[in-house]
Amino acid sequence: MPDPQQERLTLPDGQTIGAAVIRKAVKRLTLRIRPDGSLALTVPRGLSRAAVLAFLADNAARIARKRDGILARPHAPVTLDARDGDTILCFGRALRVAVLPSARPRCVEENETLFVYLPDPADDEARRKLLARFQREVVLREMQAQCVALFPYFSRHGVAYPTVRVNHTRAQWGSCLPDKHELHFSTALFFAPRPFLTYVAAHELTHLLCPDHGPAFYAHLAAVLPDHREARRLAPVLGASARETEKKKER
Ligand SMILES: [Zn+2]
Repeated sequence: MPDPQQERLTLPDGQTIGAAVIRKAVKRLTLRIRPDGSLALTVPRGLSRAAVLAFLADNAARIARKRDGILARPHAPVTLDARDGDTILCFGRALRVAVLPSARPRCVEENETLFVYLPDPADDEARRKLLARFQREVVLREMQAQCVALFPYFSRHGVAYPTVRVNHTRAQWGSCLPDKHELHFSTALFFAPRPFLTYVAAHELTHLLCPDHGPAFYAHLAAVLPDHREARRLAPVLGASARETEKKKER
């Protein structure tokens, strides 16, 4: 099969993204938005390039909306689960997991190792509960730090510091509840690199100024985080380390 042809589409926010055009014996043009936000178009063989470009241009706003929804959804596990000897990713760094006996259950990070102390190291349920609590705590601490660092810009625009919460949710990386003045973040951020965390914090803080994704929203976001487009691309996909964990669970 020949390599798909690449076209470019400029979205309403000014971002230009690639669209792979695959020509096939199909009757109608179909568009798929991949989990990483790239586009794949299946196009009838006879359809002209001009018609494909016209379709993309006509549907740019709709594509941008759908794509935002897809990119806002975490493609990483929301609950940390790891056994003795596993390697996990925490904010982009690899940590080796060591489960050890101790009367006082706790997680301690030291020398690129996550020490998980449990009264009974063979107690799977207790290990999972402890790891889930640890994950929530470190994501909350990290997102608080991200929001505090970004806050001066929002403070200058008359915004009061919001309540920051973290949940085990797969629905979105983050969300903003302007009525309650709360920002909610997913524990899946545990598996994301720090620049992506900065992007998610900046995005949700910007919603305190603009509830929608209009031009004003992107103007504020660009003022706070000039490289927000690059940072957004760092969203983790269910990658090697997560897949390894899933496989180990099956064993
Ligand atoms: Zn948003």
